[in-house]
Amino acid sequence: MPAAFLELRWPEGFRCPKCGNSTCCAIGSRKVFQCHRCHHQVQLHWQSKGNHLPGEPGT
Ligand SMILES: [Zn+2]
Repeated sequence: MPAAFLELRWPEGFRCPKCGNSTCCAIGSRKVFQCHRCHHQVQLHWQSKGNHLPGEPGT
């Protein structure tokens, strides 16, 4: 998981929206992060539909 994903979503680092924990793990190849503490899952959303990051696979 490139660090750029995290930087775009959380410029100051990952922050769980549920418990505020700052550590997480990425799940599979998807842009889903799971909080280490409460296991809340956060899916990264991009600005608009059909708008993919350069180099994103499957587009
Ligand atoms: Zn959490």
